[in-house]
Amino acid sequence: MADNQYKKYPKGTSYRARMQRKKNHIDSRIQEANIDKGIIVLLTGNGKGKSSSSLGMVCRALGYNMQVGIAKFLKGMQDTGEDAFLAKQPNVQTAFMKTGFTWDTQDKEYDTAMAVETWSKAQGYLKDKSIDLVVLDELTYMISYKYLDEQMILDALNNRPKNQHVVITGRAASKSLIDIADTVSEVKDIKHAFRANIKAQKGVDL
Ligand code: ATP
Ligand code: MG
Repeated sequence: MADNQYKKYPKGTSYRARMQRKKNHIDSRIQEANIDKGIIVLLTGNGKGKSSSSLGMVCRALGYNMQVGIAKFLKGMQDTGEDAFLAKQPNVQTAFMKTGFTWDTQDKEYDTAMAVETWSKAQGYLKDKSIDLVVLDELTYMISYKYLDEQMILDALNNRPKNQHVVITGRAASKSLIDIADTVSEVKDIKHAFRANIKAQKGVDL
């Protein structure tokens, strides 16, 4: 990709001229991007970095004193470093589906009930104008496991306050989620320490 970028310039074009052209292009794109609205960011794919990226956005929002609502679906029983951190943040509300992983509970009815309960809190965030950023962590599985109705989720996203941002994480996002999102990134799994038998590390994985 970087190669193509450089190929655009005729051979011999000076560094300064190339950078000036680049600057003109970037400046004009920045000027065109003048719409201010709440966006949906969808982070999917099999690689590590989806939930932790959503927490990066939470940090950004808190830095501006914004209000944040976080619903963690499929949270698992183990507390993470961020749970301890978030509990101390006055501008953060949380809803945890603390049921353990589905392969541990092996009880679809119970998991569905827990998903519905967590969703009702998430839906509250999506109706609340005072919440600036909503994180719906691991939401994609609620759709793929059919714990939650997809149309109900799409309606709640569509009807949320105009300036509210939403971050959705989870593998194998559905086409409808990809369609409704404004920004979609797929994290690709190239290598993961776990496959070299390194256990989940505090501060990095949990
Ligand atoms: P993180 O929370 O670290 O950003 P993630 O949200 O992208 O990870 P999940 O699928 O939600 O990924 O998995 C959460 C946990 O599983 C984390 O501890 C993470 O390090 C680990 N994990 C993520 N991807 C992989 C992978 N490809 N192989 C093994 N473990 C993984
Ligand atoms: Mg995750």
